[in-house]
Amino acid sequence: VTDANGNILSIQSDSEPRATDIQLGTAVPGYGNAHSHSFHRALRGRTHSAGGDFWVWREAMYRAAAQLDPVTYYELARATFAEMLVSGYTAVGEFHYVHHRPDGASYDHEMEIALVEAAAGVGIRITLLDTAYLTGGVGLPLSPEQVRFSDREASQYLDRWYELRTRIPTLGAAIHSVRAVPPEAISMIVAGLPDSVPLHVHLSEQPQENVDALSAYGLTPTALLAERGVVTSRLTAVHATHLTDDDIKMLGDAGATVVMCPTTEADLGDGVGPARRLKDAGAVIAIGSDQNAVIDPFLEVRALELHERLASRQRGRFDPRELAAVGSAGYRALGMSQPGVVGGPCDFVEIDCSSMRTLGAIDHGVLFGASPADVQKVVVGGVVRATNGQLRNGDDPAHLLWLALDALS
Ligand SMILES: [Zn+2]
Repeated sequence: VTDANGNILSIQSDSEPRATDIQLGTAVPGYGNAHSHSFHRALRGRTHSAGGDFWVWREAMYRAAAQLDPVTYYELARATFAEMLVSGYTAVGEFHYVHHRPDGASYDHEMEIALVEAAAGVGIRITLLDTAYLTGGVGLPLSPEQVRFSDREASQYLDRWYELRTRIPTLGAAIHSVRAVPPEAISMIVAGLPDSVPLHVHLSEQPQENVDALSAYGLTPTALLAERGVVTSRLTAVHATHLTDDDIKMLGDAGATVVMCPTTEADLGDGVGPARRLKDAGAVIAIGSDQNAVIDPFLEVRALELHERLASRQRGRFDPRELAAVGSAGYRALGMSQPGVVGGPCDFVEIDCSSMRTLGAIDHGVLFGASPADVQKVVVGGVVRATNGQLRNGDDPAHLLWLALDALS
């Protein structure tokens, strides 16, 4: 039983369904995608011949960012969010830093509004994580491609953020990384934002970030963030791949959320983050699709466990029930209540347990076989928003993507 806002008021068992009820078979709470850059979807399948590493891939990503304007960004985000929804993600945190025109001039919030409208049209929940991006690297000026990401000063970021919040009341915030925001600016941003607002940051995705921070500041990126007051329970750290024992303890003691993005981390050759150790230390583990080279919440959760197995040569590093909880943990990181429980949003994903992928699985094992092809109904706020790969309004995500990619080429 839901209220007018689509939140669960009560759960009744052994009752006869009414004609207006939504009937689902096997269902799990909606998946929370705590870390996305929707425009990276344009790079899927286009970056595999060049080899290289994260930094080589980043050049291709900058070329994609250069093609965006409020119209093309809207269309690409709409298509990407549509793929997410029909694949089982019911909420997304969009880590957004393409704020300005290519020369750095203002769009008057058009890029940010485009993302929120794209999500609303699809029916996926969104927290826009409006991102501070000030420098080109530790101690480095902006490159020409980075100019449109930057507000140049922390005070200008905060001014833009507060203006934007008058248009988007549920706005979240992010510090891109210790590479892109100097320590004094980090302090100013943390002090300047309301305490209740989710705050995300890319953390130690690459060893080079650690090397740069240690040489410039004598601190790991985690220690630098802690010194600047960022490492608290409101923090969501993304990747957290290359951590010291002290880093893990700091994040765990704070009860921070750590977003693992296993398909992206594998695709970019980042490494395997210490998810089990972070969880044991007290951190909350969530998932993100990040660069959207893969949009598959089942695979993202499964890969979290499988990467642990590869690194430890042990199976069952996460209990199946823990893995099930990881799927919806992103909601917390986005400032949303836990889905699928009384008081939380009525967000569910129905899974076909009789497909060639899922037949024969027992208990939570079905989540080790399922893929987005097994997603039937997707319910957000008590309303069926997608069925068998198609949006409620009849839109086909593949067609939306074709339109979006055609506009970019
Ligand atoms: Zn990211």
